[in-house]
Amino acid sequence: MYHALLINPWIYDYAAVNMWARPLGLLKVAEFLSQFNLNLSYIDCMDRIEKPKPYGMGKYPKTFLPAPEFLQKIKRRYGRYGISLEEFHRRLKRLDKPDIVFVTGIMTYWYPGAFLAIDLCKRLWPTVPVVLGGIYPSLFPEHARRFSGADLVYSGRVGYNLIDQLKELGISLKKVKEKPVPYYRLNFYPEPSYGVILSSEGCPFRCSYCASGILWKGFRQKSPEDILEEIEFQVSMGIRDFAFYDDALLYNRETHIKPLLKGIIEAEFNIRLHAPNGLHARYLDEELALLMKRAGFVTIRLSLETTNPERQKSTGGKVFNQELERAIKHLNKAGFGKKEIGVYLMYGLPGQELREVYQGVEYLKGLNVRIHLAEFSPLPGTHAWHELIEKGTLQHDIDPLLTNNTLFSLLFCSYKEEEIRTLKNAVSEYNRTS
Ligand code: SF4
Repeated sequence: MYHALLINPWIYDYAAVNMWARPLGLLKVAEFLSQFNLNLSYIDCMDRIEKPKPYGMGKYPKTFLPAPEFLQKIKRRYGRYGISLEEFHRRLKRLDKPDIVFVTGIMTYWYPGAFLAIDLCKRLWPTVPVVLGGIYPSLFPEHARRFSGADLVYSGRVGYNLIDQLKELGISLKKVKEKPVPYYRLNFYPEPSYGVILSSEGCPFRCSYCASGILWKGFRQKSPEDILEEIEFQVSMGIRDFAFYDDALLYNRETHIKPLLKGIIEAEFNIRLHAPNGLHARYLDEELALLMKRAGFVTIRLSLETTNPERQKSTGGKVFNQELERAIKHLNKAGFGKKEIGVYLMYGLPGQELREVYQGVEYLKGLNVRIHLAEFSPLPGTHAWHELIEKGTLQHDIDPLLTNNTLFSLLFCSYKEEEIRTLKNAVSEYNRTS
């Protein structure tokens, strides 16, 4: 048997809060590898919550660090989120030497965390090959190959081509189980305060600023029965909070989410459900809103991004104002209020003026929902990325650090730091009122 170590590295950023986060891509890799002649070890540098908040959320520990030189004009405190380096070393040393290490890179501008994990493993075990996979190397493969220090940069969704590539690193895997072990049964989180559910892969939409269609080819949904089994198992471990991380949870509502919620109600799991990824308001009808209430939803985020009808159309048409209004009406009727319903509003989209964002804020205030501002971050391969390259705003070889959502609107849009602060303060103040 081989021994593989999987690592979810630190986040390097200005801000990071744990909203039921789990490295789902890395867990999917573990699930895939579980069918081969490998023993798996796991280190999640982000599994520490310092100040727990309700529903299993919380703040990550932060080590303040100087920002990279070219980011220093931003007056925000940069840092590394997650466990201390000492704790990481302790966890590494508790393990037998692995035959191979897998490191994930999630957000493109968090890559320093992945690089650090690779470097520390290489120092301890110089001859052990390291594979870097995930969203960052899938979107910036050249950058990852050039600078990460990994022996193999793996792009895209995990599949059997990984086995061939591992052979070149001297690891010859053989199938020893008929089926992979589902990631939630691998026991990587012995005392989890929440569970995550990915009931589908991919998204049928192609929004101009989103990389979902690049990262996931096609759209697949699990059966409601399989998801129920997943929830039941985790409920038996004592988990009460579950977060859905689907890109299109409500799509095919009659055969997917509705039967699933009916199953949850019938099973009387007594759980709380959260949808931190924006839901498609278009598919939220009266029956679905009632089922969501009865099944235990307490966190509902809807995607709107902008109220400008022209921009809604040109960015992909995933939702229009009337559809959002209708969905909120159904949710209100089912018993959800401002405390539970939040709507995402984006700023920093190519060509978007701050005035448009303020219009969106006023519009959402009128609907009496929480407002969640989301900063645009350019992702290679998307329509928005190409538009910015054509305009000369971006260069192909941009350092992914500069695509950080906190920075991008400040460095590449006409917004001033003070204006953004005023906007954010106004939204926070509104959100605080009941
Ligand atoms: S609907 Fe959401 S996940 Fe799908 S492409 Fe648009 S932004 Fe991405």
